[in-house]
Amino acid sequence: MASRIISKRGNNKGRHVSIQSLPTDLLAEVVATVASQSFLDLHNVKISCKDFLQATNHNYNYVLQKVSLDNFPLIQWFPNEKALTFLRRCEESENIEILFREGLREYFNYPNGNIGGLERLQIAAQRGHKEAMYVYGMLLLSSENHESRKQGIEHMRSLRMSKCIMSSRKKVQHLTKFLWKNNGMLVRNQIPLCKFKETCKGWRVKKGRWLLLDDEDDDIQLCEDCRWDHELEFFYQLFNIR
Ligand SMILES: [Zn+2]
Repeated sequence: MASRIISKRGNNKGRHVSIQSLPTDLLAEVVATVASQSFLDLHNVKISCKDFLQATNHNYNYVLQKVSLDNFPLIQWFPNEKALTFLRRCEESENIEILFREGLREYFNYPNGNIGGLERLQIAAQRGHKEAMYVYGMLLLSSENHESRKQGIEHMRSLRMSKCIMSSRKKVQHLTKFLWKNNGMLVRNQIPLCKFKETCKGWRVKKGRWLLLDDEDDDIQLCEDCRWDHELEFFYQLFNIR
C-alpha cells in the first residue's frame, strides 16, 4: 500500500498527504478503529503499511483495549497457547469485550450463576460496549425493582438512538448458543412495562403485521414501553425462559 492518502478538500485535483506526516497517535486511532471492527482487519492493516505497523507497536495496549474478539469463541473449548496468550494480553490491556464476556459467562454460569457477573456487565455497558448495554439493559428491564427497570429503559434508549439494537441482539444471540440455559438467574417478569397493554395501539398492533428486521424498521413514534416488552420476549426466548 502506498504510504499516502489523497485529500480533495478545496481542490478538485486532489492533494497528496503522506501517511508519514500524520501523527502516530492519529494512526493508532485509525488502527484501533479498524481493530474494533475485526481482529482479522487489524492483522491486514498491520501488514499493509509499515507506518500502521509502527503505530500499532507503539500503542499496542490501546489497540488491544479496543480489538474485536468476534473471531474467538465465547468458551475456549480447544485453547491453543497462541490464542490464550493473545487473550491474556487483551485482558491485561483492559479489553472491554473480555470484561463483557466474563460478565456473561459468570452471570449465566451453570448450575450456579454469579451476581458478580452483573457488575462486569454494568462496567462494560458504562464503557459503551454495545452488547453489554443490550444484556445489562435487558436484565434491568426484567427486574422486579421499579428503579432498575427505569435504568434499563435508559440503557436501551441510548442503544436504540444509535440504531444498535438489532446488531447487538444478533451478536448476543450468537453468544448465547454457547451458554447453558435456565440457571435461575433470569426469571420472567410477569408485569409488562406498558401499563395499557390490553388497549395500547402502539407496538402490539405493529408487531402483528411484520417482524422487526433491522433498526431502520424501528418506529420511535410508537409506545416505548411496548417496544421493550417486545424486546423482552425475544430476550427470554434466548435463554429458554417461558
Ligand atoms: Zn404500549
